[in-house]
Amino acid sequence: MTSEGTKAPLIIVISGPGGAGKGTIVRELCEQDPKVTVSRSWTTREPRVDDKDDSYFFVDDAEFNRHKDNGGFIEWNDFLGSMYGTPMPESNDGRDLILEIDVSGGRQINEKLPEAILIFIDVEDPELRRRLSARGDKSSEIDKRLLEAERERKEAKELNYQIILNNDLAKATKAISEIICKARL
Ligand code: 5GP
Repeated sequence: MTSEGTKAPLIIVISGPGGAGKGTIVRELCEQDPKVTVSRSWTTREPRVDDKDDSYFFVDDAEFNRHKDNGGFIEWNDFLGSMYGTPMPESNDGRDLILEIDVSGGRQINEKLPEAILIFIDVEDPELRRRLSARGDKSSEIDKRLLEAERERKEAKELNYQIILNNDLAKATKAISEIICKARL
């Protein structure tokens, strides 16, 4: 509860391997539910063909580090050689906030905000490899991402993430929407 007696907005961490469909699910959730919004991360990685215009703030190392040193991120991580960070949350008109971040970022959020909801969206191999390949990732990049996915699965279990398999987009979105509705009660 806030000091005014209203419920504090939820923080919902959504993690999972690249290609698991996090971005699509998060967009669906925001379209279906006006009471949720998504945080836009900063990254130093190069834009990719499948990035939407508002996927990230793309910055160089110097700008990222300046923002980090000024305390501008609630969490940040080096993922496969590029930096990613979540800007300090603003009020967002009281809307619940989704953070689409990796599991190391989820660990940092869990330490700072233990009430945050942790959700891991997963897809089993070989479907994951097929999706990464379809979005144009190079085969060396795919191998690195699949290894990282395996590591993240283990860490997510340790952190008691709720695991949602995305074999069917509508079902996975509904399952997450239900988790959010239950947490609001
Ligand atoms: P991608 O390069 O595929 O867009 O993202 C790579 C990984 O970085 C994904 O697991 C994605 O969820 C994660 N990521 C995106 N933004 C952030 C962020 O702000 N912080 C952290 N820790 N991870 C992020």
